[in-house]
Amino acid sequence: MWCDPFVTKTAPIDLRSDTVTRPDERMSAAMADAEVGDDVLDRDPTMRELELRVAELLGTEDALWVPSGTMGNLIALSLHLRRGDRFLAPRGAHVLTHELGSAAWLAGGMPEPLNWDAGPGRPSARLVRSESTDGGGYDSLRSSLLCLENTHNEAGGAVIPPDEHAQLVAAARDNGLRVHVDGARIFNAAVALGVQPATLTVGADTVQTCLSKGLGAPVGSAVAGSGEFVEEARRMRKMLGGGVRQGGVLAAAGLVALEDTDRLRTDHDNAARLATGLTELGWSVTPPRTNIVLAAVPDVGHSLEWLSGLGVLAVPMAGRVRFVTHRDVGTADIDEVLRRVGNAS
Ligand SMILES: *Cc1c(COP(=O)(O)O)cnc(C)c1O
Repeated sequence: MWCDPFVTKTAPIDLRSDTVTRPDERMSAAMADAEVGDDVLDRDPTMRELELRVAELLGTEDALWVPSGTMGNLIALSLHLRRGDRFLAPRGAHVLTHELGSAAWLAGGMPEPLNWDAGPGRPSARLVRSESTDGGGYDSLRSSLLCLENTHNEAGGAVIPPDEHAQLVAAARDNGLRVHVDGARIFNAAVALGVQPATLTVGADTVQTCLSKGLGAPVGSAVAGSGEFVEEARRMRKMLGGGVRQGGVLAAAGLVALEDTDRLRTDHDNAARLATGLTELGWSVTPPRTNIVLAAVPDVGHSLEWLSGLGVLAVPMAGRVRFVTHRDVGTADIDEVLRRVGNAS
């Protein structure tokens, strides 16, 4: 393998995740100037403003700021599930594979992974119907929740379109299941589909969304639902140690992040550019729908090390190499990645 010593000395291009972004000047200024209060005592005004803005965008009655998406999901699942319950989620869902099993051991639900019979990351409504019918005996688990993921991370940022979302929700509802949407990247889905994010939450009880991914805030997510849910969620957040004081400093960044969600289109274009370029170089890549590019390689560990030697950072994901585009990498960076990979191949 030929390695250009100059290349390894240049700054690495970080495509590990859309969480690596740094606050830009506008965001930093907003954080410095944020009006704050004590959110645990009697609410922080900037945090409250952010929560109401998120609720408006997601089409829910209310929302609650949480430090991470994982906590947002855990709060929602804890309030939906009881011991002896079973919840359905698409295979590879974040709640199944990237939250250390907390949905089971803290929220108390038995996970049931659903196959992707409707496309990458997408179970069909028919499958939800058949899987949500329980055995019947008193010793059977009670299926009580469908947890959707839009976009689906392990499926390479796959989107669930509004009509399919509606069918999935109807299938769950008909069988008495509640619905939680893990919308960590729901704004990516909305931009890719050209719809309002609220279109992708219709009929759901709760939604979780990350401000710290493609939207670019340094910290924070929100969990949204009815006013009653958010009241309980706030208690649960406190229980988990997630109540923060002058959180307005963080919420101010979130408000800036929400101002221009259309910017995500650039990330999607860059992901498509990367995928096309890699394919031209002989890589086996699934065409991305949003900002996540998955490449199938014979040896993931070896490929990641090789890429890192070229100054291109990626992570392993579901047995593949995952590249994620974000606001801190531009089109020129993508071309540079392709140049480095092309030169070294
Ligand atoms: C990142 C992510 C989360 C969790 O977010 P954290 O803030 O990292 O805890 C949840 N769901 C999905 C699909 C994600 O990609």
